[in-house]
Amino acid sequence: MVTTILPDTEMIDKKTAETKSTATKPGATKYVYFFGGGTADGNGRMKDVLGGKGAGLAEMTNAGLPVPPGFTIQTEACREFMRNHGLSKEVDRQMEEALAKLESLQGQKLGEGENPLLVSVRSGAKFSMPGMMDTILNLGLNDQSVESLAKRTNNPRFAYDSYRRLIQMFGNVVLDIEKSVFDEIFEAKKKQRKTKFDTGLDAKALQEVIAEYKKAVKKHAKRNFPQDPHEQLVMARDAVFRSWLNDRAKHYRRINNIDDMLGTAVNVQAMVFGNLGDTSGTGVGFTRNPATGAKDFYGEFLLNAQGEDVVSGVRTPVPILELEKVMPDVYNQLRDITTRLEKHYKDMQDFEFTIQDGKLYMLQTRNGKRTGLAAVKVAIQMVEEGLISKEEAIFRLDPNQVVDFYVARLDEKDVKPEDVLTSKGLPASPGAVVGQIVFTADDAVAKAGHGVEKNPLILVRAETTPEDIHGMEVAAGILTSQGGMTSHAAVVTRGMGKCCVAGAGEIAVDERAREMRARGQVFKEGDWITLDGTTGRVLRGKRNLLPPDPENLAQLEHFMTWAEPFRKIGVRANADIPRDAKKAREFGAEGIGLCRTEHMFFAQDRIPHMRAMILTDNEKDRRAALKKLLPMQRADFIGLFKAMEGLPVTIRLLDPPLHEFLPKREKLMVDIASLASAGSKQKKALVEEYAEYGAKAAGDLKKVLPELLARVEELHEFNPMLGHRGCRLGITYPEITEMQARAIFEAAVAVDKEGIKTHAEVMIPLIATVKEMENQGAIVRRVAEEVFKEKGRHVHYLVGTMIELPRACLVAGEIAKEAEFFSFGTNDLTQTTFGFSRDDVNKVLPTYLAEGILKQDPFAAIDREGVGELVRIGIERGRKTRPKLEVGICGEHGGEPSSVEFCHQVGMDYVSCSPFRVLTARLAAAQAGASEKLQGDAGRTK
Ligand code: PEP
Ligand code: MG
Repeated sequence: MVTTILPDTEMIDKKTAETKSTATKPGATKYVYFFGGGTADGNGRMKDVLGGKGAGLAEMTNAGLPVPPGFTIQTEACREFMRNHGLSKEVDRQMEEALAKLESLQGQKLGEGENPLLVSVRSGAKFSMPGMMDTILNLGLNDQSVESLAKRTNNPRFAYDSYRRLIQMFGNVVLDIEKSVFDEIFEAKKKQRKTKFDTGLDAKALQEVIAEYKKAVKKHAKRNFPQDPHEQLVMARDAVFRSWLNDRAKHYRRINNIDDMLGTAVNVQAMVFGNLGDTSGTGVGFTRNPATGAKDFYGEFLLNAQGEDVVSGVRTPVPILELEKVMPDVYNQLRDITTRLEKHYKDMQDFEFTIQDGKLYMLQTRNGKRTGLAAVKVAIQMVEEGLISKEEAIFRLDPNQVVDFYVARLDEKDVKPEDVLTSKGLPASPGAVVGQIVFTADDAVAKAGHGVEKNPLILVRAETTPEDIHGMEVAAGILTSQGGMTSHAAVVTRGMGKCCVAGAGEIAVDERAREMRARGQVFKEGDWITLDGTTGRVLRGKRNLLPPDPENLAQLEHFMTWAEPFRKIGVRANADIPRDAKKAREFGAEGIGLCRTEHMFFAQDRIPHMRAMILTDNEKDRRAALKKLLPMQRADFIGLFKAMEGLPVTIRLLDPPLHEFLPKREKLMVDIASLASAGSKQKKALVEEYAEYGAKAAGDLKKVLPELLARVEELHEFNPMLGHRGCRLGITYPEITEMQARAIFEAAVAVDKEGIKTHAEVMIPLIATVKEMENQGAIVRRVAEEVFKEKGRHVHYLVGTMIELPRACLVAGEIAKEAEFFSFGTNDLTQTTFGFSRDDVNKVLPTYLAEGILKQDPFAAIDREGVGELVRIGIERGRKTRPKLEVGICGEHGGEPSSVEFCHQVGMDYVSCSPFRVLTARLAAAQAGASEKLQGDAGRTK
């Protein structure tokens, strides 16, 4: 057994890139970093250069852990590859030099001699991208070396199996031959040999497979499978670099916000074999449970298998605790090493290992991906264990994962035994979800719909692969019948915070027939099922779901008490009704940053008055309609002020395009056209429909409908988002502003009278010029004075504006003379800065993202260079005029972590977001405050 001494803390050697052991020509870039024999050129801090895997291998090597030696070709080579569509001679030279060093250390030659050196060639970017890029194993095998391997291991079956795997991987990854070409050959051979399992093929059968694979290569790639190991290596390296740019890797980077320009490193490493027999094996694990955070040694392994068998989910592995029974020494050594790795990295580790003939090798270690629940639990444990400080702990939860705490649970009262299709699935990612079955990723995309709220679908697969990523993204939940807790489906959904049951072996999935069978029942596409990702159950039908577990929420609250002191900016909520305002306060909102008053008019009892107000063409009738709306608005505002108890309530005056309240033009035209031939039943229906517009009997329709159409046509706009909305409405119809201002101040005075403080901020939308602000501000202030005089009571209030147009940012200095606060409406500001229609951007956005024209959706995360720059200018100019100007944001960006960080950096006073994102925003704001402090503290960084 290998004994390893790993210091608990600093095990990074202090060598820098300039003092490396492999020679670099003066002035030339160091492309290749060697590791092996107890030392490495690189270290764990060099993730930018070596990628996560390369940095981890260097770090473990330096610490004296049993790591197969090799070298890492750094990310700059990948960037060079992207720029020049190839690599320079210097990369080849350094690689050959490192290979020679590896050969001499191992006492072997690549693919030559009695004991040939075989290597793996793997990608490894700075941020882990599980399964997205390509890997080639067993490189160095050819027609000669396979015989040497057979002889040396005394295991011809193993040798031929390794060779056929190489041809298959190389054929697919390097020579671009469809996987199915090889699968068909392999399956045909199994059929011929009447075996269900790969292991049923003996050495001879595998030799036949190899011969057919080689023929297939010749046919499809128009060349022979390369026999020269050095040529294999160069081609494999280039293919792995190329895989950085494959579609699924690009897609993964896009949804995970990873920069395309980072590039991947390539790791070339001496092969160790987990498939040499029953004293060999391979596995993966976590130092703590990545789903729950429990402090369990957690993982899976397979005896007599290669790494890909575990992660691909093809064979279902056994729990790692079983290893203790079959190889206690190796198990203890693994526990010892991984415990020390965790202490060293001060974080939960996700590791990969291989056992070759009873000897343990560590292949990888990295900070493990985990659910939000696990992130908080592990962070709290580690603070209690004295491993990390509270300050460090608050970075351990990704603000986007806060949502995990709010995921639904299955209502046990609604679980009848006959509905449970299986309870033996793996609880891969927590939460419960109800949805309709789809069997392919493409079907999921097609059926999910285009709205923000997707149709609830459950993607059911035997196993998922990286090619399914687009379907997984839109599905509400994922169910697989194969694979373990570290299978693709499990890892990816956990990262997405999406419910997943994996490896549900009692469920048979036939993707081709689009059918799922369980307990003798057949389920087809569109059938409803319920998943419980917290326990691993699958149930038929739509089961009842319950809101999240308060115990977990309590843990989050505890965690938040550590984060909160670092937060410098306020967090308000966008809420229009008292119920949402109360919810927001439960989540810790410190005010309402946006009340969209038009949402109050859509209620059944209000819309007729609103329509009457819009349809009239004279001020008198408009005032009459507004008078009816006034008490309703006042009651709404009273509710909001009471719910917020003196916290700021920012009320925006009416903003929507008016036609949104009226019947659709096209529908009216059709109804008018059909009137001539309509029977009495149809006419009766039309009378009912148009009653509120004055249709009392069938005879009225002839007059009412054309008049209505005429008014709808008058109000019709070609670009309503740039049209008669925002302050333009209040300027053309000042009585609307008057009514709203009156409702606000009468409400404030009434609440104040009850002894409850109020803090109203009246917000004028879509301002482009200071004159607009003057016009609307004057009305609001006049009405305020009138109400205060009438009621004999005065309350504090502010009048300010939304900054939603580029012009407003540029003339912010002028606008601030009139406006007492600014709230950046970044939805409209993004729309008008890019000239993208908010509602139609999805026609171009997918292509823009795929082509890399935009890195991310600017309506989700703030575009710092353009929109952000305008925000910066707006704040700077506004505060020059009014140094104490209150500044916030109320566009969707206010709840998105990277945008919240930006708002902190530009000195906003608060962000405002939907109630369910308040905690996310609070944590993001705290992290922004803490990282600023950490950077300021004697050069420490996060
Ligand atoms: C905005 O434009 O950012 C905003 C909050 O207003 P709305 O989304 O209502 O246009
Ligand atoms: Mg707006």
